[in-house]
Amino acid sequence: MRLVVTGAAGFLGSHLTDRLVADGHSVVGVDNCITGTMANLAHVEGRDGFTFIHHDVSTYITVDGHVDGVLHFASPASPIDYLELPIQTLKVGSLGTHNALGLAKAKGARYFLASTSEVYGDPQVHPQPETYWGHVNPIGPRGVYDEAKRFAEAMTMAYHRYHGVDTRIVRIFNTYGPRMRPSDGRVVSNFIVQALRGDPLTVYGDGNQSRSFCYVDDLIDGIVRLFLHGDAEPVNVGNPGEFTVCQLAELVLELTGSSSELIFEPLPVDDPKVRQPDITRATETLGWEPHVSLRDGLTKTIPYFEQQLSRA
Ligand code: NAD
Ligand code: UDP
Repeated sequence: MRLVVTGAAGFLGSHLTDRLVADGHSVVGVDNCITGTMANLAHVEGRDGFTFIHHDVSTYITVDGHVDGVLHFASPASPIDYLELPIQTLKVGSLGTHNALGLAKAKGARYFLASTSEVYGDPQVHPQPETYWGHVNPIGPRGVYDEAKRFAEAMTMAYHRYHGVDTRIVRIFNTYGPRMRPSDGRVVSNFIVQALRGDPLTVYGDGNQSRSFCYVDDLIDGIVRLFLHGDAEPVNVGNPGEFTVCQLAELVLELTGSSSELIFEPLPVDDPKVRQPDITRATETLGWEPHVSLRDGLTKTIPYFEQQLSRA
């Protein structure tokens, strides 16, 4: 298949590109590198089966030739990125989603939306099944991301119902692995970098808030299964193993052998207190479940950050 991946220079988009190219597909990557980097694609650039278009997908997207699928991953994703880029985040989730859907419709292609567990906001149902409608503050600082993704899901379903476009929606839960930016501000990258540098690990709030961390290879496998074999209803993809932020910090210290201390800083506004995917739907409809434990995934990820820091 010939597949367009928006956000291809980002963390997830580049891993997805690798997997699709390895499976024999041809990928057209589209990215404006606002939070991504061409270094993530250096190994596929110039190879058969990969082309790249430097473009802001919040403006009209032109791709020549036939296209079988459009996978829309472009969006700032780390809280510090979308707090710094609020308008771009709203635009890529709304206008970018509309343009990517328009491309899929014009080409008769399947459309795939990278949505997020943030559509559940600070959830009052735990763990979160896809049937939960969420608890989001539309006007808080995180609203720029959460509401853009909720709009993107609504727009995707409208194109499915009204225009008959073949669509998929994945709700991605916290995913980590090589190619996260060392400075992207997410908890896994922050803690590993801080531990390796011997700096204090910055725990926000009391560190009792929880997240469920999925290793990138597991996530990409779920995404490919959903793209190929799923249906239009949203599907949670994430690892149900739930950890508090303090538990994550202790594990990172153990695995890096660091003697950094923990320091406690204010909790960001509207920071969800708990998060854990109910993956029943992914398991039953796609035969998918994650295989990499947090301990094993961190062990695979730490050497990447060591390499990044040694280059800096
Ligand atoms: P990332 O920041 O590493 O990648 C996003 C990519 O999109 C970057 O390369 C960026 O340059 C590009 N981009 C942003 N705006 C653009 C625009 N207007 N035009 C073209 N390119 C643009 O983030 P990521 O973690 O790889 O996230 C990828 C997708 O997955 C996002 O849509 C995000 O919302 C979603 N997601 C990720 C996670 C996670 O844990 N990593 C969780 C939930 C959802
Ligand atoms: N967090 C933290 N220290 C950091 C970065 C994040 O304690 O240096 C916390 C953050 O407040 C949240 C959790 O870790 O409760 C996950 O944050 P992240 O930015 O990775 O993603 P989120 O799940 O909030 O989108």
